[in-house]
Amino acid sequence: MTKILVIEDEESVRENILDLLEAEDFETIAAPNGKIGVSIADNESPDLILCDLMMPEIDGYGVLAQLRENFTTSAIPFIFLTARAAKEDFRQGMELGADDYLTKPFTRTELLTAITTRLQRQAAIINNPISLADVKAYPKEMRIIENTLRRTIEEGKFREFQMYYQPIVDIKSGKMIAVESLVRWWSPKLGLVCPEELIPLAESTGLIIPLSDWILESVCKQTRNWLDNGLDALTSCVNISASQYIQPNFIHKVENLLSTYNLAPHYLELELTETTMMQDINKTIDILKKLKSIGINIAIDDFGTGNSSLIYLKQIPLNTLKIDNYFIHNLPEDNRKLAITKALIEMGHNLDLKVVAEGVENLGELRLLRHLKCDAMQGFLFTEPLPKPDFEQMLVSKQSLNI
Ligand SMILES: [Mg+2]
Repeated sequence: MTKILVIEDEESVRENILDLLEAEDFETIAAPNGKIGVSIADNESPDLILCDLMMPEIDGYGVLAQLRENFTTSAIPFIFLTARAAKEDFRQGMELGADDYLTKPFTRTELLTAITTRLQRQAAIINNPISLADVKAYPKEMRIIENTLRRTIEEGKFREFQMYYQPIVDIKSGKMIAVESLVRWWSPKLGLVCPEELIPLAESTGLIIPLSDWILESVCKQTRNWLDNGLDALTSCVNISASQYIQPNFIHKVENLLSTYNLAPHYLELELTETTMMQDINKTIDILKKLKSIGINIAIDDFGTGNSSLIYLKQIPLNTLKIDNYFIHNLPEDNRKLAITKALIEMGHNLDLKVVAEGVENLGELRLLRHLKCDAMQGFLFTEPLPKPDFEQMLVSKQSLNI
């Protein structure tokens, strides 16, 4: 049952709202002033708060400011109730992060519409993986995700992040040869946040550095763990962001991890997207040369959709070229994609690279890739990214792709 907290000092108004909400089957809690309201919000975690603006001692702004400060209450939808429809009040409330504003006296319909809209929006954030489109449409929700991410990372709650594993399979033998590690964020507050949403947000806020350090270490640790348990030693592929690898101590960090976990460098493959590499191509070449000289594998990821100049391709020290799933999707039905994919595979081979097709979903695509002599594939045809226990099951049973 949806729980609504009503913070209102005028008893008659408060009782009126409570009656109305209870008639609509909401569970209600009432607070006669701001101080009690804040403490109830903290203890009871209501689904929504209706709060009067003008109250003695702590007014509505004070309540909202305190709630937004507190981790457990910062994302509760908040609607102001006010007797004045003054523009300054409205703006100040919105700047503090209020979700809506109701001017008293309001009708039953106005109240219920405001509540339902807010609850629906909140439910959309909590229950569904947040898509980038949603995030763009709701800057307010984006702020919530951003704040939550910041707190999670600053408080070192990395247990909320989990690695998922997607095998990369050799197309000739059907055997797993590598595994890409992908991070997912299970936020108790937001639900599941996928890498496609998490990574750009982490990048834009600078949180990517501590997060990607944690990811890289987790991957090294896990690879060591599999080796210790006698499981097939696959190359561990990990996505590297632009701001991460241009850090002056990045190479040093990687070397440290290899020595801490006693890992031979060939167990690690760093994936950088074409777009990332092109941001500062000369610096990229420089850093990647050093990494490759240590013995680490380098892959160019999502190839074909960025705007890389092919001239650089022979200068970048690479081992692997990953063709973006855009070209693989519907490959047998699309002659243009087929022509491009064929050319990319040939080009990759001429440059001595292993070519991996991303996003392979069906047998038709696989057969064609095999015919085109693509080296390896990754995608739902074999498996989606798996949580650790499921992936380990595959490792133990040496599962392979039926070709
Ligand atoms: Mg990748």
